[in-house]
Amino acid sequence: MISTDQAASIIESLVQPLTPTADAEQVDLWTAAWRILAQSVASPLDFPHWDNSAMDGYAVRFADVQQASEQQPVDLIVIEEIPAGGVPQRVVNAGEAARILTGAMMPAGADTVVMQEVTQRSGDRIQVLTAPQPQSFVRRQGAFHRVGEQLLPAGTRLGAPEIAVLAAAQCSPVWVYRPVRVVILSTGNELVSPTEILKPGQIVDSNQYALAAAVAKAGAMPIPLGVVPDDPAALKRAIAHALTVADLVISSGGVSVGDYDYVERILESLGGTLHIQSVAIKPGKPLTIATFERSHHPPHPDAPLSLTQPLYIGLPGNPVSALVTFWRFVQPALLQLSGLATGWVPTFITGRSPQDLRADGKRETYLWGRLQSTETEFEFTLAAGSHNSANLVNLAQTTALAVVPVGTTHIPAGAPIRILQIPA
Ligand code: AMP
Ligand code: MG
Repeated sequence: MISTDQAASIIESLVQPLTPTADAEQVDLWTAAWRILAQSVASPLDFPHWDNSAMDGYAVRFADVQQASEQQPVDLIVIEEIPAGGVPQRVVNAGEAARILTGAMMPAGADTVVMQEVTQRSGDRIQVLTAPQPQSFVRRQGAFHRVGEQLLPAGTRLGAPEIAVLAAAQCSPVWVYRPVRVVILSTGNELVSPTEILKPGQIVDSNQYALAAAVAKAGAMPIPLGVVPDDPAALKRAIAHALTVADLVISSGGVSVGDYDYVERILESLGGTLHIQSVAIKPGKPLTIATFERSHHPPHPDAPLSLTQPLYIGLPGNPVSALVTFWRFVQPALLQLSGLATGWVPTFITGRSPQDLRADGKRETYLWGRLQSTETEFEFTLAAGSHNSANLVNLAQTTALAVVPVGTTHIPAGAPIRILQIPA
């Protein structure tokens, strides 16, 4: 059995991210939100685009007003008004000023803006009562960013500020990666859908829904394939199909050592190479990772030709184990696969718990609960109720997992703990 860190680094080495040549598509900025940039973007414009005023005031020549004071105000004639969006029509000559509003273009001849608060206006004249600094309140063309310089590197997730930058630079459409395609399937004779009538012995296939939500949250495209019975022929058919429509296949169940756990055998019979079969993590030990040759599983006519080499992740069926292992291993793999340049390695933070934390010390143990940040630290509160991995109900509203390392059976209240934050 390998450690969680070993498992994470094996998975990282197996992921073959989307490529900008095969997997990019051009989209408008509405569609681009939260997608990942496939090509770096250089600015077609200077920022600011032209010299402009940072204040409501008067554009002047510094030489005219450098001696101004309340005792000896400088008198200037106002030759025009330049609102935002206006284009100056006149050159500001010695003894002249132009009324200017925030963001408006600086007129030729002027090099400095005096705030209206240090002026007194009467008719078409102003008195400047304070000497400004040279070039004050002028935002120079290109001072923030120059034409041709990179605005955003490839691999950037396009959130609100990045979309704003692209819009302001008129970079539309943009090249983004297509969403990663993730087939989700559940295995088990006992499983029914949430809308079917439950018969004795049956349980609801909650994993399908939970994993689809988690996949969508990671920015990928969930393709739910439904429940497959514990029947080797049916499972083989379903997995063979899944491999032809997805970059990543996630199954749950059927990967432990029970009499009905067929998944690993089927993966091998389909030409898969098994890289991981169990990990020292609790909950979640029977985690299965396999890779396939795309040439043996060519894309289905409905799927893009650019599908990556198929990666298969078999999660344990236990609903708590399925989500914990998703957060720990699948989410980073999905982000890496999606073309994100950085930030896909999960970050653990240090915090404290007001309660003792306990584990069996044999496997790295993940306890679920909620994270709060106080003024000075992160505080982790264990979910109330049973921490049995079959208890799905108290997993709801989990925002973090506290990690108890291998070899540790007890972390006293108040001691530092490692915490994995769950995507909100
Ligand atoms: P397995 O890994 O197939 O042995 O399943 C372990 C436990 O998780 C069993 O109690 C299953 O009934 C349960 N389980 C398996 N698949 C699912 C699923 N898709 N949704 C909810 N529970 C499941
Ligand atoms: Mg099963």
